[in-house]
Amino acid sequence: MENKIKLYNSLTKKEELFIPNEDGKVAMYTCGPTVYHFAHIGNLRSYIMEDLLEKTLRYVGYDVKRVMNITDVGHLSSDADTGEDKMLKGAKREHKTVMEIAQFYTDAFFSDCNKLNIKRPDVVEPATNCIAEFIHMVSALLEKGYAYEMGGNIYFDTSKLENYHVFSGQNEDELLVGVRDDVEEDANKKNKSDFVLWFTKSKFDDQELKWESPWGLGYPGWHIECSCISMKHLGEYMDIHCGGIDNIFPHHTNEIAQSEAYLGHKWCNYWFHVHHLNDKSGKMSKSKGDFLTVSLLESKGYNPLVYRLFCLQSHYRKPLEFSYEVLDNMTVAYNKLVKKISDLSDAGEIEQDKFDAYRARFEEALSNDLNSSMAITVLYEMLKADMNDKTKKELAKSFDEVLSLDLLNAKTEEAPAVDAELESYVLAKIEERKEAKKAKDFATADAIRNELLEQGIILEDTREGVKWRKA
Ligand code: AMP
Ligand code: ZN
Repeated sequence: MENKIKLYNSLTKKEELFIPNEDGKVAMYTCGPTVYHFAHIGNLRSYIMEDLLEKTLRYVGYDVKRVMNITDVGHLSSDADTGEDKMLKGAKREHKTVMEIAQFYTDAFFSDCNKLNIKRPDVVEPATNCIAEFIHMVSALLEKGYAYEMGGNIYFDTSKLENYHVFSGQNEDELLVGVRDDVEEDANKKNKSDFVLWFTKSKFDDQELKWESPWGLGYPGWHIECSCISMKHLGEYMDIHCGGIDNIFPHHTNEIAQSEAYLGHKWCNYWFHVHHLNDKSGKMSKSKGDFLTVSLLESKGYNPLVYRLFCLQSHYRKPLEFSYEVLDNMTVAYNKLVKKISDLSDAGEIEQDKFDAYRARFEEALSNDLNSSMAITVLYEMLKADMNDKTKKELAKSFDEVLSLDLLNAKTEEAPAVDAELESYVLAKIEERKEAKKAKDFATADAIRNELLEQGIILEDTREGVKWRKA
């Protein structure tokens, strides 16, 4: 198939034509959540934009296989190999076991994704499912001389690589600036940038989850899980790997180091990184404790899809600042948009040439390094354009396969309070009309619809049944 999507590749720092290894097929990997707390809306910005990428690839015709891990073990609160284990921290906070915490927050994560119309990846694999794979890769790295044992832990030896800092060319001191002030040095390391593949000597005696390994009872480092889980499901070559920009270093840098050392060849061609969502005080982060969640937005009366629209209105490679004022404006825009679409009638035939022209413009916007705000502009322009309602409605439906804003079946929050008497009257009429239709008495059914229309009530036949609203 024709490759026409251009994407910025963090590895080459250039916009490039995206060409997968296998014609028409895309092997895609996403770093999943660390499930020791709720995802904040910053994390979810990354997952919304990655969802947009996946759906764009599908829209233009690729067959995508997308894999995501769930980090339910071994991710430390510092990005260095020191600090408290995040999962353990969560378990202590809530007086639960690590596995209970992991299950609860995994479910919460997918429930948030659901509310934001983020598709579940084809494969979702918790790290704790793949201990055998981790042990296999660590053993192979030791055999090949890329790893060493020191003080009970297994470390990756970054000095064995010609180019460890593949993303930046910077040295580690520069990269660690601003990451954390209290990064402790691990005296076992031969080189400052070496990282742990397998722990048996944790500072934390109460580490709950441990497994037998050739090096003793222990648990995996964080980075190894993404290399092993992706290879387990996507094989030795991957097309595109996604994450938030904070994952570039050390996480993705270390993933590349160990994967390519293990494989002996290049592993992943394209790296897609989503910039951060900030609040007024800076980057939103889970470890700050006080962060915004989807449930919090809902409790304040916001539709989660308004947050999705807010994210789509801005480019994924730009930082985005969250504020309630902007979300209020977005709510108004969203409600107007879905109202406009719900006012479109089903009358007429699709004007195919116009349909094709607008679909091409929409694809072109997204093919241009996922220019989602331009794609939304195409939607607005299409709604204003000179074509019949049927064509507009079909285009809106088609665009929504990617935008996933429920453009045709949205529940807008601004619905005016309904008079109970009017409601029961209209519902009775709808029932009457249903009976008439069942009896194939379409004249009566139409008469009921018109009678209601004269009273300012519009009926709509939707897949979920008949809906009504005031004209
Ligand atoms: P975590 O659950 O901390 O492993 O993070 C899950 C995903 O969210 C990763 O891809 C992170 O890079 C990303 N992420 C973390 N903080 C933010 C933020 N403030 N804005 C956007 N993405 C973020
Ligand atoms: Zn990862």
